[in-house]
Amino acid sequence: MADAASYDVIVIGGGPAGYPAAIRAAQNGLKVACIDGWKNRDGSNAFGGTCLNAGCIPSKALLESSELYHRAQHEFATHGIKAGALTLDLAAMQRRRATIVKGMTGGIASLLKAAGVTAIFGNGRLLPGRKVEVTAPDGSRQELAARHVILASGSVPVELKVLPFDGRQIVDSWGALEFDAVPQRLCVIGAGVIGLELGSVWKRLGAEVIVLEALEKFLVIADQQLAGEAARHFRKQGLDIRLGARVTAAKAGKDGVTVSYTDAKGEQSLQVDQVVVAVGRRPFTSGLLAEGTGVTLDERGFIQVDEHCHTAAENVWAVGDVVRGPMLAHKGKEEGIAVAERIAGRYGHVNYALIPSVIYTAPEIAWVGQTEEQLKAAGVGYKSGVFPFAASGRARAMEASAGFVKLLADKSTDEILGVHIIGPMAGELIAEAVLAMEFRASAEDLQRTIHAHPTLSEAVHEAALAADKRAIDSLNR
Ligand code: FAD
Ligand code: NAD
Repeated sequence: MADAASYDVIVIGGGPAGYPAAIRAAQNGLKVACIDGWKNRDGSNAFGGTCLNAGCIPSKALLESSELYHRAQHEFATHGIKAGALTLDLAAMQRRRATIVKGMTGGIASLLKAAGVTAIFGNGRLLPGRKVEVTAPDGSRQELAARHVILASGSVPVELKVLPFDGRQIVDSWGALEFDAVPQRLCVIGAGVIGLELGSVWKRLGAEVIVLEALEKFLVIADQQLAGEAARHFRKQGLDIRLGARVTAAKAGKDGVTVSYTDAKGEQSLQVDQVVVAVGRRPFTSGLLAEGTGVTLDERGFIQVDEHCHTAAENVWAVGDVVRGPMLAHKGKEEGIAVAERIAGRYGHVNYALIPSVIYTAPEIAWVGQTEEQLKAAGVGYKSGVFPFAASGRARAMEASAGFVKLLADKSTDEILGVHIIGPMAGELIAEAVLAMEFRASAEDLQRTIHAHPTLSEAVHEAALAADKRAIDSLNR
């Protein structure tokens, strides 16, 4: 092994938590290396982690394509457009997805290079004393050393003992993004974010989709008014969501997969072509830590960090899915950037109370801050303003009038405490709420802010007005 090359910062993991940390550290004038071991199915390496290669980006590409297909089938006639018989070219749709991923991951490599980061493909292993052993794809090894190491090794799908992945009939989310044929009957285990997004994709493309969710309640992480509205729309779209369903066994054979589960009515079974298991993800640290590094894991396998993302080992930091908090790309990105700032002696900050959540279904779902249930449980006095997209001229023009904006504000101070949106472009609209709440805006601040007409953002404005029963474009109840 050659002598240890030395860096100010080594980042292990080049996903949305790792690569921004590397770029910001380099922008701060530090000598940086970023190591990533992602391997595509064809054996090639790529930066970008789960998000770009097998998560956020490919799923949104397919969500967009499948939604267009669905709208062409079901909405064009309403607009007065006659398109003739529609056909699906899934291979072309999948090629588009792959091209987007390739472009984006190649873009990360270019960004790292432009920032002066040494980008290394390989598996990194932290040794004691902030040394890092790198095993290249060809098996060769080198040892590097750093003043600071940032661990950003991400997460992997949880596998169920009764439903082990076989990569063909029983797949994880990555597998479900790469189907080369539309299954006739698809079972999705877990009505979480992935289950709803990927269930929607294959439903729109023609599959019969049955979603088995262990919990009795739908979308417990969301405001329950929002969750209720979402469940109504998904069921109307034909997603067969079965709550309180616990999978007990599965048998894959020539004719598909038999999934057995129990629910309130007793033992049930389903015959489907394929199963997607989407029951959550777990932190990934396999092969990452040698003996004696001082880095500790909690009982669920997350790397233990303090509020500054510092681990138990001096100058070793950890960010993204591998540490506590929501497993979201933008959360990891902010943590990575904050750590890179702290290492350079600058100010780094992540406001964990204001991390927006988005589910890219149709209607789209997005929220930030507290839910009505959380405010009730905390005994906070609040007022609520709801504005339906059915009263938005722009939403009507877009033929996308399902859903609403709900704004919750403190009853005595008027500070906005939560915004919950189900409807068109909810993921874009929520940004205004995040910004307002970052500046601790009141409902009145939003009420006094001019929103262009006709835009979807007027619904946010009107929800703020509705909180004081002063909405103009809908009834104040
Ligand atoms: P990762 O993206 O997992 O990256 C970690 C990287 O480190 C990987 O490339 C891995 O190969 C590498 N690595 C691990 N160990 C080592 C090692 N020892 N040496 C070298 N490299 C190593 N989040 C959103 O915010 N919005 C979305 O729309 C969204 N959609 C998603 C859709 C799907 C289907 C999935 C599965 C996830 C989605 N997520 C989404 C979640 C998002 O992908 C993750 O939160 C995000 O990727 C976490 O970033 P990370 O950098 O912490 O980890
Ligand atoms: P999740 O935690 O969102 O949902 C998992 C669901 O599976 C839950 O509803 C849970 O109750 C259910 N479940 C667990 N065990 C089960 C079992 N044995 N049988 C039936 N149901 C069971 O997890 P996910 O959907 O796998 O997503 C993983 C992570 O990826 C999430 O943390 C999410 O934040 C992230 N992600 C984000 C986005 C986005 O931001 N749009 C998209 C996809 C994924």
